[in-house]
Amino acid sequence: MPRSLLSIAALALLWACSPASSQQSGRVEIIFLDVGQGEAILIRSPEGKTALVDAGPGSVAHVLARRYGVDSIDFAVATHPHADHIGGMVAILLSFPVRYYMDNGAPHTTSTYSHLMAMVQRSDITYLRATDRAVELGSVNIEVLPPPEDADGFNNRSIGLLVEYGEFRALLTGDSEVEELNHFLAAGVPQVTLLKAAHHGSRDAITPAWLAATKPQVVVISVGRGNSYGHPHEWALRLYDASAEAIYRTDVHGDITIRGGRDGSYEIETRFVPSNTEAVLAPGPSAVDPIEVRVSPTAPDEHAVVRNNTGRAVEIGGWGLCNAASFCFIFPDGASVAAGDSVTVYTGSGRGDGRSFYWDSHTPRWGDEGDAAILRDRTWDIMANYSY
Ligand SMILES: [Zn+2]
Repeated sequence: MPRSLLSIAALALLWACSPASSQQSGRVEIIFLDVGQGEAILIRSPEGKTALVDAGPGSVAHVLARRYGVDSIDFAVATHPHADHIGGMVAILLSFPVRYYMDNGAPHTTSTYSHLMAMVQRSDITYLRATDRAVELGSVNIEVLPPPEDADGFNNRSIGLLVEYGEFRALLTGDSEVEELNHFLAAGVPQVTLLKAAHHGSRDAITPAWLAATKPQVVVISVGRGNSYGHPHEWALRLYDASAEAIYRTDVHGDITIRGGRDGSYEIETRFVPSNTEAVLAPGPSAVDPIEVRVSPTAPDEHAVVRNNTGRAVEIGGWGLCNAASFCFIFPDGASVAAGDSVTVYTGSGRGDGRSFYWDSHTPRWGDEGDAAILRDRTWDIMANYSY
């Protein structure tokens, strides 16, 4: 089959793009979001074109919009259909215009997968299968490394992506295990600047031959704090450590941003934000917390209260008040809480007056048996949390 080249630069010229730091720096930006045990990677070209590789298990759409100012996705990729990679993809398709969607063409039996595919088919998104092709994301070239058709298990059919910007190269291979890494090796992989550890740093997803071929300077592991798989495995960490100059982990460093230059240089920035899980497990705030949240889950008057214990008014327009399932009420622009005062968010309908807000939901938003309320600011950092 002839190789095809897809140019998003040419096809998406009419798309408005938001200002991105990669545009100012003339670098490609690769951001590994801290999504707990799962994966979501945002790639931004110097021209502001965006690709999203996997969408984690949770509310990735909110984080992209609020923390990184994303308003459209040119190229979305689901490396393979496991929930820790596609759990947040439906919300992505609902939240942003998405131009192209690629998967490995291997169907899964879960409702998450069938719901997602139904959405792709109903929408005007162009579906692409992971064949031997290249995608031009502005001036960034993304080589698609197609998975073997007959591999064992979904992990070994993860789509591989080689991101190239001049001398800077990054290799992303989803949850590939040794079988698929050997398949990629046989097809040929170059030396890279950045290697994403396959399969969350599992010992079944690394070999000395893989590291000898890729010779990464930096390794990034996307992994959840205290996950039940024991990822990343000690043996894998030792191999990465012996090969690379630096290892970054989302469970330790939070969001990890790497900006690569045409000359192969790179810079790294990390941003630690407590994950939803941690917020849920954390004890409720004490009375001295500057901003407090309380929930009263009793029908028919279900509501949550946000209290400002500081001595000045706090602007909360654009902030989100979210439950443990990541359903969020977004405060309207201009909303604020006066010093020492509080505002109330009612679950049902009504007329807001600046101190009372209404979610307009017909169903409860707060669990009767226990839940978590997480208050996030405009950039989606956690400002307060409350669990009961
Ligand atoms: Zn995974």
